[in-house]
Amino acid sequence: MPCSEKRARLLLGRGRAVVVRAYPFTIRLKDRTGSIIQPVRIKIDPGSKTTGIAVVRENGQKQHVLALMELAHRGRQISKSLDQRRAFRRRRRNQLRYRAPRFLNRTKPKGWLAPSLQHRVDTTRSLVNRLRSLVPVESISQELVRFDTQKMENPEVSGVEYQQGTLLGYEIREYLLEKWGRECAYCADKDTPLQIEHIDPKANGGSNRISNLTLACRPCNQEKGRQPLADFFASSKRLKNHQARLDRILKQCKKPLGTPPRLIQPGGRCIRP
Ligand SMILES: [Zn+2]
Repeated sequence: MPCSEKRARLLLGRGRAVVVRAYPFTIRLKDRTGSIIQPVRIKIDPGSKTTGIAVVRENGQKQHVLALMELAHRGRQISKSLDQRRAFRRRRRNQLRYRAPRFLNRTKPKGWLAPSLQHRVDTTRSLVNRLRSLVPVESISQELVRFDTQKMENPEVSGVEYQQGTLLGYEIREYLLEKWGRECAYCADKDTPLQIEHIDPKANGGSNRISNLTLACRPCNQEKGRQPLADFFASSKRLKNHQARLDRILKQCKKPLGTPPRLIQPGGRCIRP
């Protein structure tokens, strides 16, 4: 039966218990046989980067939290490694003079999940199983919610627009050029080659979503490096007095451009240029 950290410390200090396992920290009482245990519930709140887990003792309506933990997921790392492996293999294949195509023999088994997602299921399940082997778990509850991420970015999205996505009718570069007015988002320089720039830097875990991308000239891109947007504006000499521009970027980045009207036929069908 789980106890508080203080109780465990005292029991160990007095030699009444021994350490069995370091994680999750488990002790065994030496001077007692037979025990009184109370039912415990595990509560799980799954997330994309971390999953929160709570172990609670339920006493009627009252609940006592016995342990709280967070499971950090490696999804990003896994997909990155797979991308790298793909690139290595592609390079190796390209060294061969000829190789018969064999891309039609690949099937995915039923219930297949992408490795970055599968690992989330597996690690959560194994931690729960480990807890079940240590604690008298009687029930498990899980918060299952689905977020409408498209609606979060664009509250007006509806109907067929869900299938069309923000990029319909554009290539990424074209879309960004249109969205950011063909100028550097930071210094507003127009006559210079523009580079795709991550607003929340990729090195800090920023995503490749279109809402995290903007355009910057080479000097701005290099100067920003891996700084967060606000830090960049605060530290840069050139941009110090351009608070309005920072606000504009923050407002603009979440706003979808809307589909280019010339590409949509009355029936709702899209013609690609
Ligand atoms: Zn610039």
